Amino acid sequence: MIRYFEKLYKDYAQTFEVTRIQFHEETEHQDLVIFDTPSFGTVLALDGIIQVTTRDEFVYHEMMTHVPILARGCVAGDATDVLIIGGGDGGILREVLRHKTVERVTMVEIDRSVVDLCLEHMPRISAGAFDDPRTDLIIADGVRFVAETDKRFDVVIVDSTDPVGPGEVLFTESFYADCRRCMKPGGVMVTQNGVPFFQGGEVTQTFQRMGRVFQDNGFYTAVIPTYIGGFMTLGWGTDDATLRDVPVDALNDRFAKSGITTRYYNPEMHKAAFALPQFIKDLMIK
Ligand code: SAM
Repeated sequence: MIRYFEKLYKDYAQTFEVTRIQFHEETEHQDLVIFDTPSFGTVLALDGIIQVTTRDEFVYHEMMTHVPILARGCVAGDATDVLIIGGGDGGILREVLRHKTVERVTMVEIDRSVVDLCLEHMPRISAGAFDDPRTDLIIADGVRFVAETDKRFDVVIVDSTDPVGPGEVLFTESFYADCRRCMKPGGVMVTQNGVPFFQGGEVTQTFQRMGRVFQDNGFYTAVIPTYIGGFMTLGWGTDDATLRDVPVDALNDRFAKSGITTRYYNPEMHKAAFALPQFIKDLMIK
């Protein structure tokens, strides 16, 4: 029996029984492997780190999209223009496009191979999202795009790898400042910010860096089984502090109007996600 060992941490790892290796190659940017497992369906790993599984992807993709879009939509009119940085598997794109109010989604992914191979081997994740006429896929480094674009966005979603390899630049203060530059007034940015039980330094670092860019920043959480270690923190940055406090009945109203059905997200979970355990609050050092 073949087993896959994740390499995210030196002294602690999750391992998967592998029923079939669908694909493995060194792309221009990273080591990419897609394999099948009995418990988590098909799995994508980049540079030895689990990125997405067909079994539990709904948790992360729903919380990274419906929270900022429904928050923004409740307060400042519908979120129409969305930017995704990374997200090569297409799961974020799929969930964003479920909002009828979204008119355009610009997705900036550095590695074309991730898109192509996820389309070929894990098509359920994107579920046709790349063919949606509202989708504008750009193969480029996200850090360059936000520094140079003249487009403006209601919501910016950074679905990056961890701060190693090509993803490292997506955790810098200058990147956050450039994301803010291309946000419309009252826009909101969310980021993949790791599992604080093991990556506590990333919480402190992001809190300080985003804190120097946005008037209101912090985190909300979700629990994704294959992002091991308990809560995952999702970074939150905006100049409109009301966005994190949209009342549940307003969220319920907007969620009902969206007609979207989900498996993890609901307005109560949206609100609860901003209530942080003390050990995470203690990492938020100014
Ligand atoms: N949900 C996963 C997680 O939480 O770790 C991330 C999934 S997605 C596969 C991560 C994507 O970020 C990859 O497709 C990778 O190629 C992309 N990426 C990494 N660095 C990037 C950069 N500088 N610009 C644009 N995309 C980047």
